[in-house]
Amino acid sequence: MDAFEYRNKTLFCENVRIDDIISEVGTPAYIYSKNAILVRYNDLQTAFRDIDTLICFSVKSNSNLSICKTLAEAGSGFDVVSGGELFRAIKAGGDPLKIVFAGVGKMDREIRYALENNIFMFNVESVAELEHISKLAGEVGKKPRVALRINPDIDPKTHAKTTTGKKENKFGIDFTEAERIIRQSARYSSVDLCGLHVHLGSPIYTADPYARALKKILAFIQKCRNAGLDIEYLNIGGGYCISYTGEDVIQPKDYARKILPLVKEMQCNLIMEPGRFIVGNSGVLISRIIYTKETLHHRKFVICDAAMNDLIRPALYDAFHRIWPVNSNIKMPEVENFSKAILKRGMELVDIVGPVCETSDTFATNRALPKIQEGDLLAIFSAGAYGFTMSSTYNSRPRPCEVLVDGDCYHIIRERETYEDLVRGEDL
Ligand SMILES: *Cc1c(COP(=O)(O)O)cnc(C)c1O
Repeated sequence: MDAFEYRNKTLFCENVRIDDIISEVGTPAYIYSKNAILVRYNDLQTAFRDIDTLICFSVKSNSNLSICKTLAEAGSGFDVVSGGELFRAIKAGGDPLKIVFAGVGKMDREIRYALENNIFMFNVESVAELEHISKLAGEVGKKPRVALRINPDIDPKTHAKTTTGKKENKFGIDFTEAERIIRQSARYSSVDLCGLHVHLGSPIYTADPYARALKKILAFIQKCRNAGLDIEYLNIGGGYCISYTGEDVIQPKDYARKILPLVKEMQCNLIMEPGRFIVGNSGVLISRIIYTKETLHHRKFVICDAAMNDLIRPALYDAFHRIWPVNSNIKMPEVENFSKAILKRGMELVDIVGPVCETSDTFATNRALPKIQEGDLLAIFSAGAYGFTMSSTYNSRPRPCEVLVDGDCYHIIRERETYEDLVRGEDL
């Protein structure tokens, strides 16, 4: 878990005790490690430094301005999927010339906004969108770079709800349609069709799906070049996995070993769009136990003050997050092996749930935890990506605060919402 480690039976983020942060900011709270974010970013950059690579952080994974600013200062570009994300990326100090814009439903007002800001590239997902971009660009006398987002029909072997590159998915353009666009590229005179983009889904635990997609794309780039259209940029999207259970997973250099030779063969500049890889294990969600309750026919419920509105991944994708008390005499196992054999003295099997009125408001079922009680703090790990950004105020629960730790210091980078925030803009 990198920046998060137990020292003397209490959890730290970098050099700061989680207990100390929580006594000031309360719960639930997202806590991120600045150093972990930068280490991850640099790992990727180092692994791919053999070729000209632009890393565009996927803003949807964690869009907090301070997180984006941290990455912008490190030289990162941004992958945005809406006008709102573009606004955030620019506000955080992102260089528009390093911003790429994806999404199947870009609206005219979002396209105009991106044109005004001279972003680096649009990743186009349909003929209709290409027509809109070309027309709107012509109106303002611009010629934006465009990459066709290819749907390569590759199964990345991840959750069905996070698979994006199979033919039945709404994303991208199939090869037949892409070929037609290339043949008729003269019709889109107000765009510079100079790239191809592919994003297969997430998280992807081997480099094979990328290699399979790239081989198909390699053949297609050759066709484009034969037709007189130079493809200078290849964007291979995101989806790089992280360890959710403590198990070893493949690292940037393992992806690079498979991907780099193919990209070199194509002689393209590389763009990548990591989100989860950079921030996923750089953040935790801290929650306090409100009650415990035992029912006749079931094991114990641990009811905590974080809920599905704060972190929806378990409810939405059956996602697994490690959970352990912030203070515990029992060491968190190195790897969660899902075996009841890890049940030691002083541990019990529990369901960890939130207060929201939905049965799916469950973070973990039948989980082995050290015995805990009211008032104890729990750390929900791997919560830095698709945590806060997917939060809502369902059940009129104000959203948690966000804290960024940097060495011995920490800063509140987003205030906890208040009841007044909940009704802002509503009229009586
Ligand atoms: C979500 C998304 C990403 C980032 O995915 P991660 O799994 O967080 O790396 C990259 N590109 C596109 C187009 C996306 O939609």
